[in-house]
Amino acid sequence: MDPLRFMLDQSQIPTHWYNVVADMPHPPAPTLGPDNKPVPLEKMAAIFPMALLEQEISSERWIPIPEPVREIYRLWRPTPLIRAKRLEDMLGTPARIYYKNEGVSSAGSHKPNTAVAQAYYNREAGICRLTTETGAGQWGSSIAFAGQMFGIEVRIFMVKVSYLQKPFRRSMMRTWGAEVIASPSTLTQTGRDFLAKDPENPGSLGIAISEAVEEAASRADTNYALGSVLNHVALHQTVIGLEAKKQFELAGDWPDVVFAPCGGGSSFAGAAFPFFADNAAGGHKGKQVRLVAVEPASCPTLTKGTYAYDYGDASGFTPIMKMYTLGHDFMPPGIHAGGLRYHGDSPLVSQLYHEGLIEAIAVPQLATFEAGVMFARAEGIIPAPESNHAIRAAIDEALLCKASGEAKTIFVNLTGHGHFDMAAYDRYFDGELEDHVYAEDAIRTSLQHLPKVG
Ligand SMILES: *Cc1c(COP(=O)(O)O)cnc(C)c1O
Repeated sequence: MDPLRFMLDQSQIPTHWYNVVADMPHPPAPTLGPDNKPVPLEKMAAIFPMALLEQEISSERWIPIPEPVREIYRLWRPTPLIRAKRLEDMLGTPARIYYKNEGVSSAGSHKPNTAVAQAYYNREAGICRLTTETGAGQWGSSIAFAGQMFGIEVRIFMVKVSYLQKPFRRSMMRTWGAEVIASPSTLTQTGRDFLAKDPENPGSLGIAISEAVEEAASRADTNYALGSVLNHVALHQTVIGLEAKKQFELAGDWPDVVFAPCGGGSSFAGAAFPFFADNAAGGHKGKQVRLVAVEPASCPTLTKGTYAYDYGDASGFTPIMKMYTLGHDFMPPGIHAGGLRYHGDSPLVSQLYHEGLIEAIAVPQLATFEAGVMFARAEGIIPAPESNHAIRAAIDEALLCKASGEAKTIFVNLTGHGHFDMAAYDRYFDGELEDHVYAEDAIRTSLQHLPKVG
């Protein structure tokens, strides 16, 4: 009988994170302030601890994982790598499909990989309070959990549409001791401005980020934590790919292609960057691995966005980052993969995509739920709607293999379970979900007014 589950023991939890910057052909484009000059670290130190800022600009290939962080990782890491044999059989494909199950973490997704690290570095810097935003609630619950592990108080601005759709994510955050506020809220100037324009505003990640940053910047005891996009977040997530590489060795196999869902890009970075290291060094045994970010067709940042300097939030509080963007005033439709409703993308992922070193595809919502249901019926695990994007891509690749007779090895980052997304599955079963068309010609003013940078 072929083994299906490839496990590492706890001593094999990585001791270092992998920093892709060391292997990128060009240095990352710097983050710029209002004067179009690189933002000095001291300025960012108002909302981030220095240790994270140093990681943000580091070009060291390996960065040690502090022992107290590995200690918490031990609660659920290493995560299993599983061969989706039953899904392969269901599809009748010669391809081999493997998935890394990040859904086994406390909060149910990959996000605690960075939340724990961020809470640790903040506590080391003497910070006792964090603000953050959350879309679907995955990041909020991860930082609530991590804050609890290190004795840090957490206030979470939750995008209103998710706040209403996902009451149980709220309950999780409260269980771990965090305070949850529907965004836009009346607690910040940003929130009040958006509500004045439209009291029914459903919220967006961009608005919630503005609210959390505004509050962190105005209080000395409070820092801000971001669940994706930034370089240090991508760095922390590389435990996924680093473990996966050891597990593929155990399996005596190696991916031809890696698929991960892509919202802000951190889970893609986490799964793909360690394989990029091999690509940059000439390939694994001479073989290049295709690295594919999978995004929603309704919020197609990489595949339809513009590569430009843009703000990370909706109101232009943050410095500007060079990334693929749909414009910071882009209001994504209320799709159920809330974690993928972001106007921008990780600058590292964006730069690699721009240079043609990674790939991206966009998939429509209904097809992702169809894939998620197939996966659940074959493998038993009910995936998060975000993860369904990568599963859709993997199934399509496996079906191409079926047509061509190729036995490719496909690696999927199963970023989370969908136990708090069952209302979305119900809507799918009841025929109430729809595909949203991205209006390519809807010119957003924010893109026309982006600062010109030489
Ligand atoms: C947040 C989230 C994502 C997308 O965020 P990235 O930063 O792009 O990884 C994907 N899957 C799950 C389960 C999430 O919670």
